[in-house]
Amino acid sequence: MLQKFIVANWKMNKTIGEAVDFLSQFIPSVEGIKDREIGIAPTFLCIETVGKALKNTNIKLCAQNVFYENKGAYTGEVSPSMLKDAEVEYVIIGHSERRKYFHETDEIINKKIHASLKEKLKVIFCIGETLEERKLEKTKEILEIQIKGGLKNIEHVEALTIAYEPVWAIGTGVVATEEQIKEAHLFIREKLRDIYGEIANEIRILYGGSVSPENIKSIITLDNVDGVLVGGASLDPLSFAKIVKYDQK
Ligand code: PEP
Repeated sequence: MLQKFIVANWKMNKTIGEAVDFLSQFIPSVEGIKDREIGIAPTFLCIETVGKALKNTNIKLCAQNVFYENKGAYTGEVSPSMLKDAEVEYVIIGHSERRKYFHETDEIINKKIHASLKEKLKVIFCIGETLEERKLEKTKEILEIQIKGGLKNIEHVEALTIAYEPVWAIGTGVVATEEQIKEAHLFIREKLRDIYGEIANEIRILYGGSVSPENIKSIITLDNVDGVLVGGASLDPLSFAKIVKYDQK
């Protein structure tokens, strides 16, 4: 079985002071946990402070986004080499909010994945269908397009994590049913196997979409669910610690 991976995506939340407050409570509450991987993706502005606080802990520093060039005239962007320099380990690429508000296409996402792997960053590649697409029974078609487009000519399987995040379940409180999650994760696993062969069994597939301390256990124990990406419920240290410690009372 793959080691579970539980990642906090703070999105555009928390000042530096708020991030420090969170960590002062959260780090001790998960100290000593070694049988699962924990990650936190703060905003770029907090990344140095959070990175320092996470040094010598069991929590990995993650970033929420990256650009596909390493330097130059790209106002407002942050490069893979800059993330590497800041000791970021994982970068989230292709989040549905990036696709929706910043018009990121599969082609752009593919360029970001290539550029990040070149700098030896590990990638959490997000895919997922909208409500409309699900209603039109296009979920599998969309997932396949996103997988093929995002992973075009990508070879470093060992540095890849996939996050299945149905857009309609993100931040809505509506969680996909166990059947929907199982079906999507199995489909993703099969598509990864089509591309990479049996080694695809080693790629972790996370679920994201309204994960909470109440529902984590029933989700993370499903077949082909190798962890979770958590937005809203990761903003509170107690709530995120409960998610990380889903199998403890
Ligand atoms: C996310 O944005 O990655 C996410 C899963 O958000 P939430 O947990 O708030 O649905």
